[in-house]
Amino acid sequence: MNAPGAPDLPPLRDVIRRYDLAAKKSLGQNFLFDSQLLARIAAVPGDLRDRDVLEIGPGPGGLTRALLAAGANVTAIERDTRCIPALQELSAAYPGKLRLIEGDALDIDAPSLFSQRPHIVANLPYNVGTALLVGWLSSAWEPWWESLTLMFQREVAERIVARPGSDHYGRLAVLAQWRTSARIAMPVHRSAFTPPPKVMSAVVHITPGVMPDGIDPAMLERLTATAFGQRRKMLRQSLKALPGALDALAAIGIDPTRRPETLSISEFLSIARCLSG
Ligand code: SAM
Repeated sequence: MNAPGAPDLPPLRDVIRRYDLAAKKSLGQNFLFDSQLLARIAAVPGDLRDRDVLEIGPGPGGLTRALLAAGANVTAIERDTRCIPALQELSAAYPGKLRLIEGDALDIDAPSLFSQRPHIVANLPYNVGTALLVGWLSSAWEPWWESLTLMFQREVAERIVARPGSDHYGRLAVLAQWRTSARIAMPVHRSAFTPPPKVMSAVVHITPGVMPDGIDPAMLERLTATAFGQRRKMLRQSLKALPGALDALAAIGIDPTRRPETLSISEFLSIARCLSG
């Protein structure tokens, strides 16, 4: 059933059949059809009325429908040419609200597509999603995006939001959280997808925060790569490879016998600040 006032759209399963969109494993295609679940995902970024949204990987358009129903102006980048006619039909049902771009999101200069900061929403294969996430988190700050709402394998989602001391805490958690707030907005059961993947998923929501003073992002990245590269070793051993790092620990008063997963993000920032100066 379509929401009141929404255009009358055929069921997604009919669209898949009519356009012969059998899911392709090579493109990481696991589609979502449950309109209530899709509406809940589209609600994660907040009120989308007349806001720009960049959707990566719309596929047959389930999440796109939910974003359009929420009032967003959607720009959607899809790599699978088979999906484009089905998405054009959706674009015709929402005149002026859905811009389609055919291509690989890893190659497209997305910031140049927008005059106001878009919310980014995506349900992607995890390798593409992680590569895009790392790029978005490493962009100039204030970033060009307003928020990120991204589906990941549950295990990757836990690595993104992990807190110090947990098994999942590592480079990705520090990269994701040192200038953002990151949380798991909702778990998603594998049975919600067609075909169902082997593992559970979760939607992660990330909003940008203030850039801490005096940090060279490349130095922070080098520091976390060096420290977590030898995760089981004490800092006094692993950080030998980074010139000045042991002196920085001493200057800040961090015990060099600690292991990297016990360091808070602000402790990593203090070390990086010493090394960036
Ligand atoms: N959004 C739809 C949904 O939730 O049902 C489809 C999700 S499916 C997991 C991932 C989609 O991303 C597929 O349509 C696939 O073709 C597309 N895709 C995969 N890699 C891509 C890339 N590099 N650039 C753009 N789209 C990509």
